[in-house]
Amino acid sequence: RARLAQYDTLLAEAMTEETARQEAHIELIASENYTSKVVMEAQGSQLTNKYAEGYPGRRYYGGCEYVDKVEALAIERACDLFSANYANVQPHSGAQANAAVFMALVSPGDTVLGMSLAHGGHLTHGAAPNFSGKHYNAVQYGLKPETGEIDYEEMERLAREHRPKMIIAGFSAYSRVVDWRRFRAIADEVGAYLMVDMAHVAGLVAAGLYPSPVPYAHVVTTTTHKTLRGPRGGLILSADGDESLYKKLNGAVFPGQQGGPLMHVIAAKAVAFKEAMNQDFVRYQQKVIDNAKAMAAVFVERGYDVVSGGTDDHLFLVSLIRQGITGKDADAALGRAHITVNKNTVPNDPQSPFVTSGLRIGTPAVTTRGFDADECAELAEWICDILDELAAGVDTTHIESRVRANVAEVCARHPVYGAAVT
Ligand code: PLP
Repeated sequence: RARLAQYDTLLAEAMTEETARQEAHIELIASENYTSKVVMEAQGSQLTNKYAEGYPGRRYYGGCEYVDKVEALAIERACDLFSANYANVQPHSGAQANAAVFMALVSPGDTVLGMSLAHGGHLTHGAAPNFSGKHYNAVQYGLKPETGEIDYEEMERLAREHRPKMIIAGFSAYSRVVDWRRFRAIADEVGAYLMVDMAHVAGLVAAGLYPSPVPYAHVVTTTTHKTLRGPRGGLILSADGDESLYKKLNGAVFPGQQGGPLMHVIAAKAVAFKEAMNQDFVRYQQKVIDNAKAMAAVFVERGYDVVSGGTDDHLFLVSLIRQGITGKDADAALGRAHITVNKNTVPNDPQSPFVTSGLRIGTPAVTTRGFDADECAELAEWICDILDELAAGVDTTHIESRVRANVAEVCARHPVYGAAVT
């Protein structure tokens, strides 16, 4: 950073502040993580200079012989890691991977069936303000309010009634194991494609700790930066065996949705896939789950409603409806104590999506920096201490400053780019 600091003081200052924030605050946003230094080294490399439109061996530019090797490695590793026989490592993001799948498999105006944003689906699964909701006839399923689990009967009823051309499974906020096989069965029954967006659980899937959707879906998409802990980016996979499907998917990414691939990011994806093949990565993912379970148990013990009662993955949702606290206020109070979470809608939420009555809490980042289950349980106690006072309507200044001091102490014990991250 020394050169940058000298050349562009203003920018370097903001970047240094962000680095300090990451070290000094506890990160509980379920979609975030701290990537390794080797991933960042690949991403910050000369590969950023290279245009390589097309695919390995079939480029529109000269000088691609070495980036071809890089992309081929990334593809091979992605296929190995997820037992797929097709991978496209070029999508710039998860949303672009999803857009490419829409482009390949359905046409504007076609019916698609996905999980609603308010119940834990992603914007790109058919939400009204997104391309997926604007250009397609999006029908949405959700959770059973009584159990907080996916309402499979409703999903199947909607599939039979609307006969979608594509069914989308996968989520941004769901703490239970999804029955991929059941999704595939209904897709086959109504003649739909099944697309699974496993962005949130890709790391758990890679480690074999969450059921893989790859054997069940026609196409699987993911981001590479959440539990998978790679660079920010997207990935498309398939084990369907249909070469014409693979061709359509490749054409939809380039030239359909994107121009030149980000070769430096593809190099970083290749590094992340290599890391994910290691036994250390499996141990890490097990700790992510153990830590999420330890935190959820404290919330339940302290009288908070955890949607679906607990978690099988890296995240859980806390409903604050009974306490009469909004997600917005809870998020702000925890932020003042240097704990970063995000407000989230919960089933039967009386508040708007900007306010909400819930929090989404995830453990991938704290686990990377080395928090164990006891530390995570203690952290959950601090969060409940703040929420209790918010619910009681008392001034939270004192409790926030006490928790802020605890946070500073535990963060100093676990530096992000200390021993825990290579
Ligand atoms: N799919 C799911 C399930 C997500 O949760 C997200 C992001 O949070 C995305 C896709 C979009 O990924 P990106 O932000 O890289 O476009």
